[in-house]
Amino acid sequence: MDAAGSSDLERDGPAGFARPFDDPPLDSDESNQGLFDDLLSGEPIFENKEVLRPSYTPHELPHRSDQINKMATILVAALRGETPSNILIYGKTGTGKTASAKFVSKELESTSQRYRVPCDVEYINCEVTDTQYRVLAQLANKFIETNRERIDDQIDHLESLLADLEERDDLAGDSDADDSSLTAGPFEPATAKTADTTPQDADSPVETEGLIEDPEAPDEVVDDQPDDHPLAETPHNSRAAVEAEIESLRDDKDSFEDVPMTGWPTDRVYSVFFDAVDYDERVVVIMLDEIDKLVEKSGDDTLYNLSRMNSDLENSRVSIIGISNDLKFTDFLDPRVKSSLGEEEIVFPPYDANQLRDILEHRSEVSFKQGALSDDVIPLCAAFAAQEHGDARRALDLLRTAGELAERSQTEVVHEDHVRDAQDKIELDRVVEVVRTLPTQSKLVLFAIILLEKNGVKSINTGEVFNIYKRLCQEIDADVLTQRRVTDLISELDMLGIVNAVVVSKGRYGRTKEISLSVPLDETEAVLLSDSRLGDIDDVQPFVQARFDN
Ligand code: ADP
Ligand code: MG
Repeated sequence: MDAAGSSDLERDGPAGFARPFDDPPLDSDESNQGLFDDLLSGEPIFENKEVLRPSYTPHELPHRSDQINKMATILVAALRGETPSNILIYGKTGTGKTASAKFVSKELESTSQRYRVPCDVEYINCEVTDTQYRVLAQLANKFIETNRERIDDQIDHLESLLADLEERDDLAGDSDADDSSLTAGPFEPATAKTADTTPQDADSPVETEGLIEDPEAPDEVVDDQPDDHPLAETPHNSRAAVEAEIESLRDDKDSFEDVPMTGWPTDRVYSVFFDAVDYDERVVVIMLDEIDKLVEKSGDDTLYNLSRMNSDLENSRVSIIGISNDLKFTDFLDPRVKSSLGEEEIVFPPYDANQLRDILEHRSEVSFKQGALSDDVIPLCAAFAAQEHGDARRALDLLRTAGELAERSQTEVVHEDHVRDAQDKIELDRVVEVVRTLPTQSKLVLFAIILLEKNGVKSINTGEVFNIYKRLCQEIDADVLTQRRVTDLISELDMLGIVNAVVVSKGRYGRTKEISLSVPLDETEAVLLSDSRLGDIDDVQPFVQARFDN
């Protein structure tokens, strides 16, 4: 660590935090260098790495203004108290669907708060929440939570009204004197406003009809003179009315029952969800991300139920935004669901290399230190990601990983080589993940292929794979599948990009598959052997020798 570096650390601390205490100066003696000092001493490349992570929602989304504007044009209905059309959003992964939808929903919610129009947006990721029960339970609990918060706000407001009333009584001194005004008729505010009045009609009178009026109440009834009376701007005409309102809100709050994550009949979950949505007058936008995963896993019941809710709701209105990576998933929907959900469709096309470059440039301005990227880094990340069907997620991963690799090698500038290494690393991580999560049978088939390759066997065919696979199964007491099934598993590995299987014609001997590994052998083998069942196989050589046996 050089002198300048260590004094920087002393002044600001490693991550730029001010030092909280006046510690004695750190000893810069070499003997005091700890495990992390060296790592910290390199000038960090990143200004704010979080900005490159998938969890970060950017404030600006270049090349998505058409899609964002279209969503806004449809959803603005919610701010007018009308029901927006349902929207179906399509596009491949990494085309900015989730980021755009979240951006729009944030704007919608903040605008609705500014204009005091009740509108709630709930986001569900159906890859995680993938059954009708879980979707409904999660929505029910979210709305119950929102309802409780609103009730608490209302109670706070009413309690402060009560406090104002009390203060006024105290100022008036003699409470008997006040009681004399109780004979006056109920207060009918000329310009009363309710909390949820929309801006357009904020000044129009609100009917007080239906409010709790108890003539028996031994309480102050406000007469219509004083405009500065605490209740003048409220629909309540007496202290008792306010207290009764608080009481009834508390009862409502107690009546909400959270839905457990399993165990109830689905009808019951639906009905709790329905009541929670309908508790308040409002427009509710339900955003179902990765909706194709939900349909694939659990069919279209959830969508059917959600899309016909509006005909039963009395106070609220529901609008659905479905987001899908799979363009064809609507083929599996009931025609009614399909037409209701697809009232409006918005397509997110893949980004081209130039667009990806803009996106990366925007994000890198905040995430990297000035001068930390050499000129060719962003164009190369963009070019690689453009080949991956224009995936912005891949582009950002590449840029972040390249930065991390540069950081690790203690250089101050990210170079083209770091991007190439990052590309390899990401690809390898993907393979490792795919292999790690394969079912045991597929792992055994893959292991057989690896053993053959390791022993230099050229043009591996299905029969050879099957023979070794059989031995491996016997070794670990696994069921032995038929050769037909093993052929299918090989095709699946091919589709996952782990092996390459080409059909070759052998003239009058028919056709056969030639199989080769398309991923790095050593790393893949290591992942397979980290599976405890496969790890038990120690000496594999005899199986390979026996490959031509039957
Ligand atoms: P999808 O939902 O279509 O799979 P995401 O919205 O999750 O894609 O986007 C993937 C990543 O790329 C996220 O980190 C997102 O912030 C980023 N991203 C996508 N489009 C843009 C854009 N136009 N501008 C900035 N970042 C973007
Ligand atoms: Mg997404």
